[in-house]
Amino acid sequence: MSEMLYEAPKTLKAAVALLAAANGRAKVFAGGTDLLIQMRSGRIEPGLLVDVKGIPELRSIAQEKGGFRFGAAVTAMELAEHQALASMWPGVIDAVKLIGSIQVKGRATVGGNLCNASPAADSVPAMIAAGALARIIGPNGKREVPVEEIPTGPGRTSLGHGEMVVSFLLPKRPRRSGDAYLRFTPRTEMDIAVVGAGVNLTLNAKGVCTRARVSLGAVAERVLLVPEAAAALIGHRINAEALERLAAAASAACRPIDDKRGTKEFRIKVAGVMARRAAEIAVERARRQI
Ligand SMILES: Cc1cc2nc3c(=O)[nH]c(=O)nc-3n(C[C@H](O)[C@H](O)[C@H](O)COP(=O)(O)OP(=O)(O)OC[C@H]3O[C@@H](n4cnc5c(N)ncnc54)[C@H](O)[C@@H]3O)c2cc1C
Repeated sequence: MSEMLYEAPKTLKAAVALLAAANGRAKVFAGGTDLLIQMRSGRIEPGLLVDVKGIPELRSIAQEKGGFRFGAAVTAMELAEHQALASMWPGVIDAVKLIGSIQVKGRATVGGNLCNASPAADSVPAMIAAGALARIIGPNGKREVPVEEIPTGPGRTSLGHGEMVVSFLLPKRPRRSGDAYLRFTPRTEMDIAVVGAGVNLTLNAKGVCTRARVSLGAVAERVLLVPEAAAALIGHRINAEALERLAAAASAACRPIDDKRGTKEFRIKVAGVMARRAAEIAVERARRQI
């Protein structure tokens, strides 16, 4: 085993300088709930861990532009306990609450869940459905990108050399909006999604859907944004036919693998069911605001 260095910078500038100088063997270290397991199993052997939990921008939650910005290293538990954020984005918080046990949630972060780039990561479909933006910093400065552009495949992201995620913006919501995330797992807790579905929508005063975003997890090499499924809702009252069209479009977008937890056929079918049920919850939440 070769030498590994550990650094805990207190500023973004210092973190980027460490990552940029590190020859590609550096890893951002947030909660460590994925990273430590991968290191112990020998899957990765970083030369440098850059612990980002001491950097204020990665640890705060604040209102911004009528929505919320939260740091990439805010823990799942801290998010779940933030009442105002949870009441504006209940579907995102439903997803965050599904990450592991209480102990895991006390360490796990949304930044780590996203950048670990598992297609089955629970917070990611909910964040994509929400239209969340990620703020990235690197040697060339800052940029903002939609969350769906970050994972590119299992364990792979679009982040460049020396880049890291600083924070996320959950946008302001129009009135009569609702979101929801559901996952299918064989066990009720401490399991990895066989399928996950996030739905976020807005209704007008007549109950017609004016905006929608649908995202699916664990049915492709990365979490998918599925515009065809959203199109099944937009411009319609959310009745049984619209939900059936949504389910069909969600199933059609899947390109899953077979594995011990589910066959392709099962995942394709369940993706439609989960998307439909998540949409029903999102509609119910939106209607409560009328
Ligand atoms: C027992 C157990 C149960 C679990 N259950 C679930 C579950 O139900 N659902 C689920 O989705 N996950 C689950 N997980 C996986 C894990 O907890 C989550 O993926 C978690 O959100 C990862 O966050 P972290 O802060 O611990 O990331 P870390 O382990 O610190 O990092 C993960 C990866 O992301 C990178 N990274 C972290 N932060 C940043 C950043 N700001 N910028 C760039 N790169 C970054 C790291 O370099 C690393 O490659 C479970 C894990 C365990 C151990």
